[in-house]
Amino acid sequence: MTSASRLIPSRAERGGDDPIFALNAEAVRRRQAGESIVNSTLGALFDEELRLATLPAVAEAYARISAERAAAYAPIAGPPAFREAVVLDLLASSDLRAHAAAVATPGGTGALALAVANFLEPGQALLTPSFYWQPYETIAEQAGRGLETFAMFTAAGRFDVGALEQALALQRERQGRALLFLNTPCNNPTGYSLDAADWSALRPVLAAAAARMPLSVLVDVAYARFGAGDPLDWVRALEPVAERLTLLAAWSGSKAYAQYGARVGACVVVERDEASRGRIVGALSASCRGLWSNVNHLGTLAVSECLTEPALRARVEREREALRALLHARVELFTRLARAAGLRHPRYEGGFFVAVFCAEPARAAETMRQRGVFVVPIAGALRVALCSSPLASVPRLVEALAEALRA
Ligand code: PLP
Repeated sequence: MTSASRLIPSRAERGGDDPIFALNAEAVRRRQAGESIVNSTLGALFDEELRLATLPAVAEAYARISAERAAAYAPIAGPPAFREAVVLDLLASSDLRAHAAAVATPGGTGALALAVANFLEPGQALLTPSFYWQPYETIAEQAGRGLETFAMFTAAGRFDVGALEQALALQRERQGRALLFLNTPCNNPTGYSLDAADWSALRPVLAAAAARMPLSVLVDVAYARFGAGDPLDWVRALEPVAERLTLLAAWSGSKAYAQYGARVGACVVVERDEASRGRIVGALSASCRGLWSNVNHLGTLAVSECLTEPALRARVEREREALRALLHARVELFTRLARAAGLRHPRYEGGFFVAVFCAEPARAAETMRQRGVFVVPIAGALRVALCSSPLASVPRLVEALAEALRA
């Protein structure tokens, strides 16, 4: 008997290689061999010289934490100051703040895992729009849950609220509850941010569904600090229905503090009833213990410092604004050139990614790869990471996209 055969059958064909990392590895190898490469695959912000962009103020925050404090275990639900600071960061301008609590998690990913484990029964499926971050599926599968989708866009390119309504009705019949993941603003992979009109249409649908079954809505705000509008628009939009459903947010320090490897995040829960909120925090904390035990103490303490110490906070905001402007210049150039080239993509005003609609994404991505331009093929589109594409590379990127779509 070979050792591989001892894997349980349902795990035998999973494979750990993320296709995005495989494409990135090839792009890096070819660039190192001297080829001129545009690598628009990775979801991290690189500066114009292709160095990973960081915030010096965050490095200073790390330096302020003593070795002894950092070495100790973090409390299971995370350091209390961090948890409070995250709630304030997310909900400061809203009355919902008084009804919210946060549990620290390893990145936003941890918050997604907590939601899946606690708001769906085994065998049930989370619901999300048809363009979604692929690890949603892995997270669900890992937990013995599934993932169902609804068409994200109408023919006119707006968020398809009708499709969501139907999908919620089906989930009510099939599983009697629903957990909806909405990644906005700056959806990965499409770049789309729900706007005021989308939220107005969405609110009554959520309210009606919540009247018929337990409904939890998780807003994945991983990219919120890099959008064009107010990063807290979604809070105001959901305030009127927050009482009827459980509102969750996956808060992430990865992009906002350019700390992808620190694994700092939080699951924020808004629940008006204090006793229910306490039970939810208890359930989430128990899952933390069972999944990863404790979070990165140094990372959560340093980010806490960035959130709460006024001078440091101001520096972080200034430094982040410079990175946002860097990205925004690329977004503006891309959308202008893409319009001129006739590329079709969802409304894109900011964020790390945009998706260009495409009938044969695998073939188009392959054509581009041969020419040294790397993008990620996904169902019905090519995902383009402007975050990792310097401004000077954007014209070549758009040309390669236009050419591959014509071929
Ligand atoms: N949600 C989306 C849509 C993402 O793209 C990512 C990271 O790429 C995350 C959540 C979670 O990131 P992290 O776990 O690093 O906070």
